[in-house]
Amino acid sequence: MARQHVAKKAAQFTESVIREMTRLAQRHGAVNLAQGFPDFPADPRLKKAACEAIQADVNQYAVTWGAPALREALARKYRKYNGMEVRPDTDVTVTCGATEAMISALLAVIDPGDEVVIFEPHYENYGPDVILSGATPRFVHLREPDWTFDENEVAKAFNKRTKAIVINTPNNPTGKVFTRGELAFLAGLCRKWDVLAITDEVYEHIVYEGKHVSIASLDGMAERTITTSSLSKTFCITGWRLGTCVAPEKITGAIRKVHDFLTVGAPHPLQVAAAKLMDDPGTLFEDLAGEYRERRELFYPGLVEADLRPLRKPAGAYYVMCDIARFGFPDDTAFAQWLVKDGGIACVPGSSFYVDPSQGRTKVRFAFCKKLETLRAARRKLLDLPTPAAKR
Ligand code: PMP
Ligand code: GLN
Repeated sequence: MARQHVAKKAAQFTESVIREMTRLAQRHGAVNLAQGFPDFPADPRLKKAACEAIQADVNQYAVTWGAPALREALARKYRKYNGMEVRPDTDVTVTCGATEAMISALLAVIDPGDEVVIFEPHYENYGPDVILSGATPRFVHLREPDWTFDENEVAKAFNKRTKAIVINTPNNPTGKVFTRGELAFLAGLCRKWDVLAITDEVYEHIVYEGKHVSIASLDGMAERTITTSSLSKTFCITGWRLGTCVAPEKITGAIRKVHDFLTVGAPHPLQVAAAKLMDDPGTLFEDLAGEYRERRELFYPGLVEADLRPLRKPAGAYYVMCDIARFGFPDDTAFAQWLVKDGGIACVPGSSFYVDPSQGRTKVRFAFCKKLETLRAARRKLLDLPTPAAKR
């Protein structure tokens, strides 16, 4: 028999459907409401600082775990906005996006046989992250339409093999913002079972209803939480690849080793530039939420008007899940393919967010992190959708 050259791990997952939808959008000249990246410019202060850093020949590796100025600025930000005491020298690792922060965190703490509790629907990356790190996932449902969880179901998912729970708030793809009460309940389980919380807070500054709470700020949680986040969304720079991982010193030590051998470090001149804005953001965080609220108020009614049946108005982040059952397609992928080709709009098939694709069969996700004019154009296209011919 021919030798199997591809590892079993790599054979277990596909390429990202989100990024595949971007390629399809480009091919069909469609409005890309699939992949969540902004189509508007970054803050001019940031761009100027990056150019200056390169002109000043900040061209070589940064300290592996992050340029000191950025770690210090982040520690101040975490104190002011997240209620967390963070030591820049021992608790912070700057990574290549939250993507690397999450996989480094899992690789640093997971041993074979360890279980990880994950809410579903979940951000696409967690599936491959779990496989690559060798964790056994235990999925717990966020229930429609409010995306609440059943406390008994979560409690049952914890056992002596549980090593960590992944908490993504504000949540992609549901727009849920976990309440302080929900997080306190999860924190109680973490303490009871001596489990780590690994958070994904990339949308921490994009909240419309409620308030973002970092679980690390709750009693007894700083010592058992790995907080990941990113500048991708906060500074609208998804291509700069700057993320963060905050954890107690001992865990950070393990994360830094993994990070070092995965990537050595994140882009140095961009870290230097980001440090400047992080240190003196002015009203950037508040403005960000306000600007996204305007986008939500424009786009969400468009979905309702076009009878795309959004499941819930997002309380945070910039995604909306819709129920497409009424269109009568065999599945979410067939619908998404039709929408991008015939409707001129790219979305993400709902199955990308579930381990069992049938659970996302009647759902798709739209991203609204776009200029108002892009969203207006999308709204017009949604109202003008052709009648699906043969429902492929
Ligand atoms: N986590 C979530 C929930 C996301 O939506 C994304 C997409 N930006 C990421 C992580 C990855 O972010 P980054 O660009 O920092 O790798
Ligand atoms: N987080 C974004 C999304 O969910 C972008 C994903 C990516 O390509 N990294 O669409």
